[in-house]
Amino acid sequence: SADVHHPGVRSAFEHVVRRNPDEPEFQQAVLEVLDTLSPALVKHPEYDEQRILERVCEPERQIIFRVPWRDDQGRVHVNRGFRVEFNGALGPYKGGLRFHPSVNLGVIKFLGFEQIFKNALTGMNIGGGKGGSDFDPKGRSDTEIERFCQSFMTELHRHLGEHTDVPAGDIGVGAREIGYMFGQYRRLTNRWEAGVLTGKGLEWGGSLVRTEATGYGLVMFTRRMLENVGKDLDGKRVVVSGSGNVAIYAVEKAQQLGATVVACSDSGGYIVDEAGLDVALLKQVKEVERARISTYAEQRPSARFVPGGDVWEVPCEIALPCATQNELDADAASRLVRNGVIAVAEGANMPTTPKAVKVLREAGVLFAPGKAANAGGVATSGLEMQQNSLRTSWTFEQTEAALAGVMADIHDRCRDAAERYDAPGDYVLGANVAGFERVAGAMLAQGL
Ligand code: GLU
Repeated sequence: SADVHHPGVRSAFEHVVRRNPDEPEFQQAVLEVLDTLSPALVKHPEYDEQRILERVCEPERQIIFRVPWRDDQGRVHVNRGFRVEFNGALGPYKGGLRFHPSVNLGVIKFLGFEQIFKNALTGMNIGGGKGGSDFDPKGRSDTEIERFCQSFMTELHRHLGEHTDVPAGDIGVGAREIGYMFGQYRRLTNRWEAGVLTGKGLEWGGSLVRTEATGYGLVMFTRRMLENVGKDLDGKRVVVSGSGNVAIYAVEKAQQLGATVVACSDSGGYIVDEAGLDVALLKQVKEVERARISTYAEQRPSARFVPGGDVWEVPCEIALPCATQNELDADAASRLVRNGVIAVAEGANMPTTPKAVKVLREAGVLFAPGKAANAGGVATSGLEMQQNSLRTSWTFEQTEAALAGVMADIHDRCRDAAERYDAPGDYVLGANVAGFERVAGAMLAQGL
């Protein structure tokens, strides 16, 4: 549909391709957003006059650094660290750190770009950023993780601050890693600066519900999207991909709300449990033992493990991709449609390929993009920053109610923006336009 695009959209995308030739994930994320913005450019000619699209696609600052560390045998390793401070118009840069061998600059830029609009959708004052390393934490001991995090923070700390840039976790970075990084930040700066990182431990500035937030928020959003068309989550059959932090708490919340989650996965395959997943066992396997998902099936008679299988083979009414980018392709989407899926909501960032999104949308499946549906994590980071500023902490109930309120607002903002632009039910357009209008307004107000 490139021919119907506003010329400003076409030229911005050409700039991105020319400037970032070897970054397919970043190009994909940019195209997916720009694809929906032509009507917004028609409505706001000042966006084009002020080259807002080109400006928003160029990170404000990109930091690449060496991370040397020593393993338990005394051998030296060298990894690469990244922090992309993408857009600070709405607040301090905010976004997670990902430790995974697939990390490179293009992946971090795609994630940072998504984060701008996601954070804007929360209605809070947080800008967009992302970081990480190609370090592979798999199989590393606790002391190796500690030394890696310390070395990573030895460089990164000079770029951070509660009013400057506030990282959190992502794939491979949880409360343990945030703890080691917070400790190193404190040693280097002599500042107990709670607001410099989110996802902290509860005894030292962390927020209740932060651990659960992305998964819980995903299910809250999904339920509201269903209710909006007169449907319900209660009694539905759900499949989740992944078995990390997002997946585990999506399973927990979906089951609390009356759905049955029958499958989840990791990179080795998937498990099916027709009795409904046992969340306590799932947590024991993944959070305590840090073991493979196959271990779950060994301990649960109603479950079986399918090595190497694709979890989207399992029939369901609601699919929640919570693993990683581009994990749900067009074939998987067609299979889900044949098996009767009614809603797909992204817990991971960009897990659905553009072709798969097309298949789902054409089949009339409700589709919630990650920048809206998985914003509960960063929204609760925003709540953590609020508590840190007030030097207080809220109860679980208070914090969960605040999260539910933010997710309802995000849903309604997306739905209403889609309706304003004559695309009712198009949550992709709604999320992009609503997030973009907020960022663009701030950028215009603040000048070049
Ligand atoms: N990594 C999460 C995300 O993709 C959370 C970021 C944060 O809390 O800053 O949104």
